[in-house]
Amino acid sequence: MGDCIFCKIANGEIPAATLYEDEDFRVILDLGPGSKGHSLVLPKAHYANIYEMPDELLGKAMAVAKKAAAGLVKGLEADGLNVIQNNGLTAGQTVFHFHMHLIPRYEGKEEVIGWTPGTLTDEDKEEILAKVKI
Ligand code: AMP
Ligand code: ZN
Repeated sequence: MGDCIFCKIANGEIPAATLYEDEDFRVILDLGPGSKGHSLVLPKAHYANIYEMPDELLGKAMAVAKKAAAGLVKGLEADGLNVIQNNGLTAGQTVFHFHMHLIPRYEGKEEVIGWTPGTLTDEDKEEILAKVKI
């Protein structure tokens, strides 16, 4: 993927503030952080989204996210951390190279993510259970 910015960052062609690197991944600081320490887990190989990621690499991504999350929370004395991963424009994905957001959270600081809980209706429940085959 010649013009993919995250390919270039993950593989060191474009410099980024790197917290962690191994054979398959680089963890960098997000340039538009939602909170102090907001980081991104980037695979070095190009996959646009979660559906394209091979299962084994996805498993490794989660293990890297765990390690980086623990380091962020400890180092920055955060009170919690959200792991977020967007797929598709409608879901907020703006860079189409798979990545996981690690967003440290601090007691008393404003919300950086959230939604208004609705109600699971019987109609929706039946429809979803009938339509979704995993
Ligand atoms: P998403 O909206 O899930 O695709 O997330 C893309 C994220 O990448 C956003 O949080 C951006 O702030 C971040 N971002 C975009 N370009 C860069 C860059 N060159 N270095 C670091 N973070 C970036
Ligand atoms: Zn890429």
